[in-house]
Amino acid sequence: MTRSARPLRARIHLDAIRHNYRRARSLAPRSRALAVVKANAYGHGAIAVARALAGEADGFAVACVEEALELRDSGLQGPMLLLEGVFSPDELALVDRAGLAIVVHCREQLDWLLRARPNRRLDCWIKLDTGMHRVGFEPSEFAEVNARLAACPHVGERVAMTHFARADETAHRYTSTQIVTFEQALSGVRIGRSLANSAAVLAWPQAHGDWTRPGIMLYGVSPFAGAAAEASASGLRPAMTLESALIAIRDLAAGEPIGYGGRFICERPTRVGVAAIGYADGYPRHARDGTPIAVGGRLTRIIGRVSMDMITLDLTGLYEARPGDPVELWGQTVPASTVAESSDTIAYQLFTGIGRRVPLIHE
Ligand code: PLP
Repeated sequence: MTRSARPLRARIHLDAIRHNYRRARSLAPRSRALAVVKANAYGHGAIAVARALAGEADGFAVACVEEALELRDSGLQGPMLLLEGVFSPDELALVDRAGLAIVVHCREQLDWLLRARPNRRLDCWIKLDTGMHRVGFEPSEFAEVNARLAACPHVGERVAMTHFARADETAHRYTSTQIVTFEQALSGVRIGRSLANSAAVLAWPQAHGDWTRPGIMLYGVSPFAGAAAEASASGLRPAMTLESALIAIRDLAAGEPIGYGGRFICERPTRVGVAAIGYADGYPRHARDGTPIAVGGRLTRIIGRVSMDMITLDLTGLYEARPGDPVELWGQTVPASTVAESSDTIAYQLFTGIGRRVPLIHE
């Protein structure tokens, strides 16, 4: 197959991911940490990321059996948790064969598990709904569910878990309320505890428990908004640099519109750079005029609507740019979270939306 010459790629910095994992571990030194690598490791390439962490991660978490099997088939061993459990009883045979741990969040899953005849004991994580109100048992159901699982001969280790709805809002009481609800449900029962996503690893030490579940922080993005969003403030390193190049440069007179819908009108004579990336590659179509972007290492801004395969940016007075010069969409100079904010979304969506025609280069 001939390789595309389109100058677009996502460079994945595996050393940064290792650094960020260690950071998560050092912030919660008494907890083990499951590296959350669902959704193709938030778009970073699950196999490569898991391999980079193998040997030091305490385990991995994925969303579904298919994701787990991809990792097992690549040779990855060790604890691996299905964050949503199974979607049908048939999947339990695969769980058994692959040696996975499962979340149990509802009556149906509980019945399937109790009726299964696995060849080995299955570790299971009892999910309680303490305020997210998506999935999970009522806190009042914990004692009964836990007792039934404890009495089941083919259930191995049990862990109680919950998930936070607002842990990124460090001044809000909601997370404290969730923690209290969780602890009251467990009422002193000796069982492993897991509550913390990245925001809680960083900001809620009282929720570190026995197992943390960091996701976005592994990829070098702070889960917080505003000043705290600066990833370096959390000791994190960006793990993805999305880069392209200039493919055209044009000079437009004041008053000329740029791109679809003529949304941007040049306020002055404007030098416009065109870069090879568009919304089909995962660059957000809703990026506003003024969204930061770097050309030749210099910060500038998007002007004009994002197209399917191209974007336009302001080169006026920047430097003597030429076609072929490097363009960074996000990564080292432009934080992914800034692009996300300027596009009314979150870095999670930018990463997981990277298009199929963007090669991931692991280095
Ligand atoms: N735990 C659960 C149950 C999740 O669903 C997720 C991600 O959505 C995480 C942990 C990781 O969250 P974050 O990426 O915010 O660290």
